[in-house]
Amino acid sequence: MESAEIRRRWLRFFEERGHTVVPSASLIADDPTLLLVPAGMVPFKPYFLGEVKPPFDRAVSVQKCVRTPDIEEVGKTTRHGTFFQMCGNFSFGDYFKEGAIRYAWELLTASVEDGGYGLDPERLWITVYEQDDEAERIWRDVIGIPAERIQRLGMGPNYWSMGVPGPCGPCSEINYDRGPEFGEEGGPAVNDERYVEIWNLVFMQYERGPGEGKENFPILGELPSKNIDTGLGLERLAMILQGVHNMYETDTLRVVMDKATELTGVAYGAAHDSDVSLRVVADHMRTSVMLIGDGVTPGNEGRGYVLRRIMRRAIRNMRILGATGPVVGELVDVVLKTMGQQYPELLTDRKRIETVALAEEAAFLKTLKAGTNILDTAVSDTKAAGGSVLPGDKAFLLHDTWGFPIDLTLEMAAEQGLSVDEDGFRRLMKEQRERAKADAKAKKTGHADMSAYREVADTSGSTVFTGYGDTEGEST
Ligand code: ATP
Ligand code: MG
Ligand code: MG
Ligand code: MG
Repeated sequence: MESAEIRRRWLRFFEERGHTVVPSASLIADDPTLLLVPAGMVPFKPYFLGEVKPPFDRAVSVQKCVRTPDIEEVGKTTRHGTFFQMCGNFSFGDYFKEGAIRYAWELLTASVEDGGYGLDPERLWITVYEQDDEAERIWRDVIGIPAERIQRLGMGPNYWSMGVPGPCGPCSEINYDRGPEFGEEGGPAVNDERYVEIWNLVFMQYERGPGEGKENFPILGELPSKNIDTGLGLERLAMILQGVHNMYETDTLRVVMDKATELTGVAYGAAHDSDVSLRVVADHMRTSVMLIGDGVTPGNEGRGYVLRRIMRRAIRNMRILGATGPVVGELVDVVLKTMGQQYPELLTDRKRIETVALAEEAAFLKTLKAGTNILDTAVSDTKAAGGSVLPGDKAFLLHDTWGFPIDLTLEMAAEQGLSVDEDGFRRLMKEQRERAKADAKAKKTGHADMSAYREVADTSGSTVFTGYGDTEGEST
């Protein structure tokens, strides 16, 4: 089943059951606590928080998501992309646990002829929060899942809150057994590559008080109105329904890998390392196009820096694969071709997207060679002095003068057996930012380099990009 059909069926199934179809929001979150949208529930947050009364009781969407913290997983696990699409169904004080579980089961297991996805029920494994007896009972007694295919997990994976006082509640996840080819048996609690997580059901049931992190907070009581928030990874379901080994081999990403093969002559399947590079290229180029499509431009702060890092990493992986000239134009073209079917606004905006992407490639290629020389020299100097840590000021110089995002320096240093003094790097970055701020204030005119910063600061409060993971939570 093609990705487009998976998406159509999703929307139709829930629309037929009284859900209002809500189009994907932009990746640029309308939310001061987030740089980019990491989950389908984000556009509905004001409803869940009770700040705004929802205009419907039920909604369904397929939301564009970016999770930069997953960047390290890309190409290495079979199932993490920096960009992916989260299919979600939502209930605002309407149906709750049993309704959500019944819908999920019906859609996954109904035959393809009947509008479902036709998954074999015997391959589905369920996890519930360890104290959620109710969810376990529904899966076992109402749906009829054998007790040995229901596993209880702790708060880490199976409890949801926004990290602040407000709604919270247990989750229940549906996982698909891909068989012994993917490793030892034992269920999702022991093997998440074999028993791949496809769908997370969040039961917003309680109100939490203030407290630390994901696990330490008091439960103040039941919410007056209970909500449902779910998220199914479209690419993960596509991987299963298309019978491929990983999400990069599904229809919309495979063509990008094939283009990279055409441009470099490196066949997919030739070697582990080059396969990882091909997957990284496909994932990162798609993410870049989707970000540019939503109005992000490459820069040194905030969202612009996320885009820059991802795009430069794609370009560098193309060079590792052997490309010597520009490649971005053709890669963007193939992404537009496949993603444009579901997001036609990308095609209307083609000219601008290409211009932004090509300019970034040109800027990077201009400094890549010189920067690589500087890095190589710094690496030899460090090694000659018996050290194993590249100094922070070198990483800063590479960033500031040669346009090397920090993870590029980290990756290139690691390839030569060195780590990098990241704290030193960040200290210098902070100093520079403060200098720039002071300058701008003194002149009362804009400092050129501050425009990207201001853009983010304006929309994101005081959010300044200080590394992955600390500004972007995984919300579903
Ligand atoms: P995982 O444990 O596999 O990292 P998760 O628990 O972080 O997934 P959720 O936050 O529960 O994921 O998101 C809901 C669904 O979105 C997941 O069940 C999965 O199908 C999909 N999903 C999450 N992260 C990614 C990703 N990086 N790439 C593709 N799909 C994803
Ligand atoms: Mg995750
Ligand atoms: Mg998980
Ligand atoms: Mg999950």
